[in-house]
Amino acid sequence: MKKVAVIGSGTMGNGIAHIFAQHGFVVSLIDISEEALGKGLSAISRNLDRMVTKGTLSEMQKEETLKNITTLTSMEEGVREADLVVEAATENEALKLKIFSQLSDLAKPSAILASNTSSISITKIASVTNRPDKVIGMHFMNPVPVMKLVEIIRGYSTSDAVTTTIEDLSRLLGKVPTSCQDYPGFVANRILMPMINEAIYALYEGVAGVEEIDTIMKLGMAHPMGPLQLADFIGLDVCLSILRVLHDGFGNPKYAPCPLLVNMVQAGHKGAKSGQGFYAWGHGTKDLIVADRFKK
Ligand code: NAD
Repeated sequence: MKKVAVIGSGTMGNGIAHIFAQHGFVVSLIDISEEALGKGLSAISRNLDRMVTKGTLSEMQKEETLKNITTLTSMEEGVREADLVVEAATENEALKLKIFSQLSDLAKPSAILASNTSSISITKIASVTNRPDKVIGMHFMNPVPVMKLVEIIRGYSTSDAVTTTIEDLSRLLGKVPTSCQDYPGFVANRILMPMINEAIYALYEGVAGVEEIDTIMKLGMAHPMGPLQLADFIGLDVCLSILRVLHDGFGNPKYAPCPLLVNMVQAGHKGAKSGQGFYAWGHGTKDLIVADRFKK
C-alpha cells in the first residue's frame, strides 16, 4: 500500500493526512473547500514545526512529509490511484452515503474504503458500495498525530483480511488498533457522548458553571481536560450529530441531546473551530476563558 486519499481537510482530515505522509505514503488530501485545504495544510505545517522544535522530527523529514501531500478539490482525480481511501468529511449520514457511492465507481476495485466516522453505521455506508467486504471504520482520535488509539470498526460484511490489513497499517503508523463491532457510537462515543451530554445538562440546569463542571471532572477523575472543554475541541456540531445517531440507533431517551447543545449549534457556536463554544477561543492566550454567555 503506497497511495492514500483522505477526504475532508477539517479537524481530523489534516491530522490523518499528516501521519500517513510522515510515514512515507503519497497522500491526496481532498476537500470541496479551497479554504479548508489551505487551513489543513497550515495546520499540518504548524504541527510539523512543533515536532521539529521538540526534536522528534528533523527539518528534512518535515520537508519530505509536506512533499508527500497534494491537495485537490476533485475527488475523481484524488482517489483514482489510491490503495486506501480514508473519508473524514462532515459527520452527516446522507453526505457519507453520497461520498461512498461515488467512491464505489471512482476508486480502483482493490482499494479499501475506510471511514473516520465517529458514529455512523459502517454497515450502512458499505451497503451503497460495490465492495462491502472492503469497507471498514478507521476511527482516529483528535489530535491525530498525538493520540495513540485507532478504533477499528468491522461492518457486518467487512472481511477478516481487510481488518487485519487495517490493523497492521495502524501499527505501522505508530498507533494502537483496537477492534469492535458496528453498533451506534461503537465503543468510544457510546461511552464518551453521554458524559459530555450530561455535563451540558448540568450546566443547562444550573447545577454548576462551566469552570466548576470541568474542574470537578478534570481533578476528580484525573481526566486531562473537562467534558465541556473536550466538547469544544471535538466540535459541538460533531457532538450533536453523534448524540442523534445514538438516540435514533437505540431509541433510548437517555441519549436525547441537551436543548442547550442544540441551541448552541443552531447559533453557530460550534466550539474551538468556530471561535465560540463553552469557552471563547482565538483570544491568543493559553488560559481558558469562559464564553461571555456562561460568565457569572
Ligand atoms: P470538520 O467539520 O472539521 O471537517 C469536515 C470537512 O469535510 C470540512 O473541511 C468540509 O469542507 C469537508 N467536506 C464536506 N463535504 C465534503 C465532500 N463532499 N468532499 C470532501 N470534503 C467535504 O469535521 P471533523 O471534526 O474533521 O470530522 C470529520 C469526521 O471525523 C467526522 O465523521 C467526525 O465524526 C469524525 N471524527 C471527529 C473527531 C473530532 O474530534 N472532531 C474525532 C474523531 C472522528
